[in-house]
Amino acid sequence: MGLPQRRLLLGLNNAAMPELPEVEVTRQTLAPVLQGARILSVEMGKPLRWPLGIEAAMLQGCVFGPLARRGKYLWMPLSQGATGRVAPASLADGRSGCSWPAGGLLVHLGMSGSLAFKPGAQSDEQPGLHEHVRLHTDRGVLGLTDPRRFGAVVWSPALDQLPASRLLAGLGLEPDDTALSEAWFHEQLRRRRAPIKQVLLAGNVVVGAGNIYACEALFDAGIDPRTRAQRLSRPRTARLLKAVRQTLQQAMALGGSTLRDFRDVHGVSGGFQDQARVYGREGQPCTCCAASIRRVVMGQRSTFFCPHCQKR
Ligand SMILES: [Zn+2]
Repeated sequence: MGLPQRRLLLGLNNAAMPELPEVEVTRQTLAPVLQGARILSVEMGKPLRWPLGIEAAMLQGCVFGPLARRGKYLWMPLSQGATGRVAPASLADGRSGCSWPAGGLLVHLGMSGSLAFKPGAQSDEQPGLHEHVRLHTDRGVLGLTDPRRFGAVVWSPALDQLPASRLLAGLGLEPDDTALSEAWFHEQLRRRRAPIKQVLLAGNVVVGAGNIYACEALFDAGIDPRTRAQRLSRPRTARLLKAVRQTLQQAMALGGSTLRDFRDVHGVSGGFQDQARVYGREGQPCTCCAASIRRVVMGQRSTFFCPHCQKR
């Protein structure tokens, strides 16, 4: 697809962004190849949403630890390798001499970002057109491709220290967090007057239910997306919580949704979009009752639902 057309499509449909399942699939795919890999050099291209926050050369010699994820953020812990340089005292927060973790990179894929790892790639290979960060390691090259440049790679001494702590503040619970009980979820929704779809998208109760997944989960739970969160009964919120978890699990099992921009690190398209029962199906028959699927715009995002199966 040519670039102008691609931009047009993105402009018409802002749902084409990596969501939690895509980030988790990326983490699962990258973790085994990156853990233990040593950074040889770093190339930074055009500016991203936020600066790296450290001189790129400081990362040279650092070794990747186990990758983690929080919301849509990927955390790549780094230790100081034997020949690595030491982070400046201001960043190491007084823990000089501490070797694990020395800090790490917090990565966000923004609106259109994707990470690709090329094993054993030659370092003299030219970066891709929209490849703005390249980490050359002793195992291959990790590249961040991000046409819209809303993504970021940010150095932080730890997840619970600045700047990571600021970026992660306000995130809701992870869908698989045991603290996310039916009672807690219902209590949180009772405090919110906004439509339930908006509450899910805000991600400050539970993370992960981006536009496509929120639409699908609300369909599964039989809830009209325009219903005020506080009006939902305890049994309905319990059904919704279950639906959110199942939808995200299904998306991860299918390798994430693709829409237009997401490719996982092996370049394989995810398959969730093909399974969507309301998302992107305006005017088509509901798979359950054959009524025509409706589209409304909520918070500038397209929202799809079945007017018959989903109740206020
Ligand atoms: Zn229906």
